[in-house]
Amino acid sequence: MHSDTIVAAATAPGRGAVGIVRISGPAVPGIALGLLGRLPEPRYVLHARFLDADGAAMDVGLALYFPAPHSYTGEDVLELQGHGGAMPVEALVARAVGLGARRARPGEFTQRAYLNDKLDLAQAEAVADLIDAGSEAAARAALRSLQGDFSARVRALDEALAQLRAHVEATIDFPTDEIDLLGGHALLARLAAVRAQCAALQAVARQGRLLTEGLTVVIAGAPNAGKSTLLNRLAGHDAAIVSEQPGTTRDVLREHIQIEGVPVLLLDTAGLRQSTDAIESEGMRRARAVMAQADRVLFMIDAAADPKATGYVAEKAQLPPGVPVTLVYNKVDLLPAGVGISVAVGGETMLSLSALQGTGLDELRAHLLETAGFQRENSGTLSARSRHLEALGAAAAALDAADAQCRGARAAELVAEELRNAQRALGEITGFGTADELLGRIFATFCIGK
Ligand code: GDP
Repeated sequence: MHSDTIVAAATAPGRGAVGIVRISGPAVPGIALGLLGRLPEPRYVLHARFLDADGAAMDVGLALYFPAPHSYTGEDVLELQGHGGAMPVEALVARAVGLGARRARPGEFTQRAYLNDKLDLAQAEAVADLIDAGSEAAARAALRSLQGDFSARVRALDEALAQLRAHVEATIDFPTDEIDLLGGHALLARLAAVRAQCAALQAVARQGRLLTEGLTVVIAGAPNAGKSTLLNRLAGHDAAIVSEQPGTTRDVLREHIQIEGVPVLLLDTAGLRQSTDAIESEGMRRARAVMAQADRVLFMIDAAADPKATGYVAEKAQLPPGVPVTLVYNKVDLLPAGVGISVAVGGETMLSLSALQGTGLDELRAHLLETAGFQRENSGTLSARSRHLEALGAAAAALDAADAQCRGARAAELVAEELRNAQRALGEITGFGTADELLGRIFATFCIGK
């Protein structure tokens, strides 16, 4: 429990019908007395005047008192619902500060909820993901994680690991049985089941991360290939200037779109070509920089003007390594009927479309989701973050090592150690044994008042 008391507006700043201020900590009863003249009955709505230091009314509204531990944070919480608007809300916050509270840092209410075991870390992150959800599907997924569905699956895997470990550790105590137990079918089968459970959770988390964090897709290519036309088509409005004049897009343009509920950040970039123009060169530098961060680069080629994709061949060596590229042959409407595109440059995936006429765009959207690992059957999607996927990846790697150990050297201690490593990795998801520094980073991304 914290010894200090925090206060913040819980509603977004600006004008609104109602403005909510939340106070959490041991000073709440005293603050309620000063602000309301009395402590409201727990969990009953009190209609009250909010009093300033002289006892005069600053506002009238509703007050709710949630005594510890039955509150969001697990501490004494007072919630005041006054009139919305910057002044009344700030006046309430300032009054609470005058009565002994301090202004909360971003995410501090949820951090206290986590520290008081009201939520685990994955649930706390889901609170932020729900607030930041970019689509309805993302919001639903976040709510499921907030309600503990993701954590429950992590815990179930952890439990299976714990049982397996107990089994393996028993063989350490009875070394004569070691070979039999470790090499036996029963153990290998149990290990295989746990690995399958881990793989299934990885698939769920991958899908969840897609919804939560979305995809970053960069449209690149030679000037005039139709990059801006494609951006506008996918965005559904004229976000970028389309022109026959090469070099029109000089900076990086950003558009947020959704594909089947997956938030996609689309970046249109300056055309890549030899140039001595300083501004154009800076545009190309920025284009390459955003490509390095992309989940996928759509490299556009004018199928009519450059059917052999020489623009891509020339540029290929300068593209950031490791970024997946799809070659997009554009302007197929200009090709004579019956002429298809069949130039495979270096094993990249190819698509052909007409950004101008809109043909082939559904295939492009499906391609983006598919290559990102999106599964259409997603009724139970949960929200997840890259951090969770990394932890699951580490757990899977440890299980692989355990399996190799069982089949190879068969040292029970080493198998047990790998299982322990897998459990440690899972613990990072729900927050067990998580470093303070990581906690600080996670909660710093929350909004104030949450
Ligand atoms: P960017 O420089 O790569 O961004 O290319 P733009 O989007 O500005 O397009 C350059 C020119 O190509 C414009 O005149 C567009 O109308 C034209 N264009 C773009 N896509 C297509 C297409 O699919 N078919 C045809 N025929 N023209 C296109």
